[in-house]
Amino acid sequence: MDARSLRELELLAVARLYGYEARGVRHEDAPPGVEPPAPQTSHLIPSMTWHDLRAAVAACAACGLCKQRKQAVFGVGNESAPWLFIGEGPGADEDEQGEPFVGQAGRLLDSMLSALGLKRGREAYIANVVKCRPPGNRTPTPEEAAACAPFLDRQVDLIAPKLIVALGKTAAMRLLDTEASLASLRGQVHRYRGTPLVVTYHPAYLLRNLPDKAKAWEDLLFARRTLRSIEKEATA
Ligand code: URA
Repeated sequence: MDARSLRELELLAVARLYGYEARGVRHEDAPPGVEPPAPQTSHLIPSMTWHDLRAAVAACAACGLCKQRKQAVFGVGNESAPWLFIGEGPGADEDEQGEPFVGQAGRLLDSMLSALGLKRGREAYIANVVKCRPPGNRTPTPEEAAACAPFLDRQVDLIAPKLIVALGKTAAMRLLDTEASLASLRGQVHRYRGTPLVVTYHPAYLLRNLPDKAKAWEDLLFARRTLRSIEKEATA
């Protein structure tokens, strides 16, 4: 069946969702908002190994962010780290280099980690809500965050961190499924997939709002106390 017949039968989008390539069908023929079919692997993600997960992220076309990325930015750090920091999404530097938080905000994150005696690649793993750069560094949409969620969830399960730190509103909203203000979420221990989670400001926000650095430091000290008490309970 050709593209025109499929469109007339209003089946083009359905055909794409099932990965059916009609002869002569191009993505440009699809109705607005319909993305090319994602590889039919999403049901496999929850049992993927690190190796397969990396390959699936690199090839992902589940949302429109794949169109303008230079590369997907998977995550970086110790794959058994006790600390997991989750940001929003790659910016231009991360898109270029393929590693999260390598720009100015990343340098601030590294100093925040070092103030806690942590280092990426040692006690910490760093990932983002979305793996591909939103054009112009806009905030990822909830749909884009949802399309990427299975990848982040598999990273959380594989790392099995003792504590998650959500960096900023986008991460907090996605992980806690809430629209509550960041201020109201600070200073509490939440949970994500059973793992304790605390919330703090995004380093890029802190670069623009220097006085809030003191609050972020309070959050990190709270996070460290939380992790220590988790460790204490585990050995009691
Ligand atoms: N901001 C983020 O949220 N993540 C990055 O990787 C870089 C900047």
